[in-house]
Amino acid sequence: MAFSMESLRADARVCVRRGGAADPEGTCVLYWMERAQRALDNPALDLAVRIGNELGKPVVAFLGVAPRRPYANLRHYQFLIEGLADLAAGLRERNVGFVLRSWPEHSLPRVCEELHPAVVVGDENPLREPERWREKAARMLRVPFCTVDADVIVPSRLLEKQQYSARTIRPRIRGRLGEFLVPSENPAARKTWKPLVKVASRSPAEDLAAGWKIARGVAPVSTSRGGTREGLRLLRQFVARKLRDYGERRNHPEFDGTSRLSPYLHFGQLGPLTVALAVQEADAPAEQKESFLEQLIVRRELAVNFVRFNPDYDSLDGAPAWARRTLAEHSRDRRETIYSEKQIENAETHDPLWNAAQKQMTITGWMHNYLRMYWTKKILEWTRTPEEAFQIAVRLNDTYELDGRDPNGYEGIAWAIAGKSDRPWFERPIFGTIRYMSAGGASRKFDAEAYIRQIEKLEPGRAAG
Ligand SMILES: Cc1cc2nc3c(=O)[nH]c(=O)nc-3n(C[C@H](O)[C@H](O)[C@H](O)COP(=O)(O)OP(=O)(O)OC[C@H]3O[C@@H](n4cnc5c(N)ncnc54)[C@H](O)[C@@H]3O)c2cc1C
Repeated sequence: MAFSMESLRADARVCVRRGGAADPEGTCVLYWMERAQRALDNPALDLAVRIGNELGKPVVAFLGVAPRRPYANLRHYQFLIEGLADLAAGLRERNVGFVLRSWPEHSLPRVCEELHPAVVVGDENPLREPERWREKAARMLRVPFCTVDADVIVPSRLLEKQQYSARTIRPRIRGRLGEFLVPSENPAARKTWKPLVKVASRSPAEDLAAGWKIARGVAPVSTSRGGTREGLRLLRQFVARKLRDYGERRNHPEFDGTSRLSPYLHFGQLGPLTVALAVQEADAPAEQKESFLEQLIVRRELAVNFVRFNPDYDSLDGAPAWARRTLAEHSRDRRETIYSEKQIENAETHDPLWNAAQKQMTITGWMHNYLRMYWTKKILEWTRTPEEAFQIAVRLNDTYELDGRDPNGYEGIAWAIAGKSDRPWFERPIFGTIRYMSAGGASRKFDAEAYIRQIEKLEPGRAAG
């Protein structure tokens, strides 16, 4: 049967990057997996399977793992590698072949030369570098190629431009949930792939050990394990035990009251659809479910929208004009305390709450949401310029958080330092009209002493807390 990319142009989730008809001689439909590293509720994989079944060809998922992401280090690659066994098992269940290649054999054109696919389907990632890889692929490939916006519920293209805040994006997203928040059928490939080429080179874990050029100073976190199965276990636990108090507890860092799913969502080991449907179906009060879905869908997709439509998402240049103006006006204000980047990184400040938050991140790879805001605002207060503060916050967030290098991080930092999604507040030194947050104010809202005591018990290498 003739399949043409033209039939997909009307699908809001799909971006046709290289049109034309499928190569009739092609051996398979190739799913180039990058962001959505899962076999469950993955619209990119679903599309590849649909096309494969339509063409009567087998489907192969290809994942190339290479040490070329800014700030990614051993901690992140370890989490990714821990997810590979579940991924392979899930693909097998859907009768989809799996080619895993690690650097320096990870390139898509090379795999295409060997496999000779009829069509290539990719997933999407709004960050700068991964988007460039996709643009490059579209120039190099000789077969039809499209990508699928697989890691949001409402396709981000439908929002058309940068949305100001949760208030403006909320009705646009909520209005489309009936259409997009629906269970996936997770279809299986009808035709089985008989490997024509060697399936995998050495595993990425061996390559990591054998000397990839990646930063090794940040240790993997031993008790936070990557993988879809572990993500699903945490999701079940959250729905059963924590969801009913989520709205009250989510701003209390001294309680373990949130889902802890951000690393799984970041690595694509869980999709937002799986999480949202589990919460929607849960036996919990409606307002608690709403409170959670607001974060998972509205806030998370606001962040994707920011990164997708603002090319300066990771610097002060991406801030609204009023925020840039007020920060510039106050950039020469006297700072009572200035810390070096090393002192900040080593949690050597005079502020016990801030130091505790920094340690939670460096030791466990995760910091509580409420403290991420406080943590970032203090960096603005303790550095020479807002530009420097922004860069330090990005580097530390992306280096230590397991969920770092994610649209949520750039949105959060821009919100805390650069007035993104916010409005001008009262004028004060250094911050200008950017909203201020004091240790005293933060501590009145939760039991900071209890939180600090918990963090003091943590030891590097342990991930509890
Ligand atoms: C300065 C700053 C930096 C941040 N850096 C990151 C980051 O690098 N990566 C990251 O994933 N999140 C980041 N966040 C957002 C948020 O802090 C984390 O997503 C959340 O703490 C993760 O914990 P959880 O999975 O238990 O969240 P839950 O409360 O259980 O929420 C469920 C999911 O909703 C989403 N979510 C929750 N809060 C937010 C939010 N404020 N904005 C956008 N999405 C949200 C996340 O995907 C999260 O996993 C940052 C926020 C700020 C203010």
